[in-house]
Amino acid sequence: MTDIDAEIIDGNAVASEIRDDLTDAIETLADAGARPGLATVLMGDDPASETYVNMKQRDCEEVGIESYHVDVDGDAPAEELYDEIATLNEDDDVHGYIVQAPVPDHVDYREVIRRVDPAKDVDGFHPENVGRLVAGDARFRPCTPHGVQKLLEAAGVETEGADVTIVGRSDIVGKPLANLLIQKADDGNATVTVCHSRTEDLAEKTRSADVVVAAAGAPELVDGSMIGEGAVVIDVGVNRVDADNEKGYELVGDVEFESAAEKASAITPVPGGVGPMTRAMLLYNTVKAASLQEGVDVELP
Ligand code: NAD
Repeated sequence: MTDIDAEIIDGNAVASEIRDDLTDAIETLADAGARPGLATVLMGDDPASETYVNMKQRDCEEVGIESYHVDVDGDAPAEELYDEIATLNEDDDVHGYIVQAPVPDHVDYREVIRRVDPAKDVDGFHPENVGRLVAGDARFRPCTPHGVQKLLEAAGVETEGADVTIVGRSDIVGKPLANLLIQKADDGNATVTVCHSRTEDLAEKTRSADVVVAAAGAPELVDGSMIGEGAVVIDVGVNRVDADNEKGYELVGDVEFESAAEKASAITPVPGGVGPMTRAMLLYNTVKAASLQEGVDVELP
């Protein structure tokens, strides 16, 4: 048995509270005749993407958001996807939508994102929304980084003045999170180090941090020897590794939980940490999109 004193940050519980608050906001919108709508677009038949899209649809139903779904054949020309995007941009019932990544190789994902109406870009990936975020005037915070911020807040972690090391520089997690945490704002004001595949001496950079966020897509990359005593550890990673069970695989994070938990003061589990927060923050952005488009003020959590 290992000796775990760390607080386990319960993403399911925090996400559930956020969903409850959103349900109130959705009722306010519905009372004003403005039921929020979210559409998902899936090109191809990647099984993991299908699962994600189904979960997003189910989440919508639970809180009272109308959900729509568009399937595009994986072999279809990119123009077919662009046509669907143009239709969604014009559809007043759809306040927000996401094009599930990855798209097939013959489709340029950057071009896809550029075609999404920035007002409906609830992923927050459109260049206009990225620019606004960097400028400190975010319209939609990308769901995973926003979820990480909410988890830190719920766990009582002060980011002001904290040294935060982020492992990973992707456009959907590492980069936007770094940008959010350096903002002059209550949930920012951190000093951020962003590490990536070319970083030298990763362990030195994580060990000196008050908060470590692992978002590398590398199973159990960050172990206890890389965590400073009393640090807060947020594990964004979700990796399938072979396992001797019925499914033949299990999900592990980017952090070696047992050894990291011996050093950390608080840590997120995988699953049950960041994952549920990402889903909740997509609902948040959809409610915000509806509120902005319909001109109905709501209180957001
Ligand atoms: P990505 O592959 O786009 O980016 C990974 C980043 O990590 C890159 O910037 C790379 O330079 C860096 N990296 C990889 N190996 C490294 C190493 N050994 N040392 C230092 N840096 C390294 O991945 P992503 O889309 O940002 O996702 C990261 C992980 O988070 C994945 O496991 C993904 O499944 C997971 N994820 C989870 C959620 C969630 O809701 N829980 C959401 C998004 C992504």
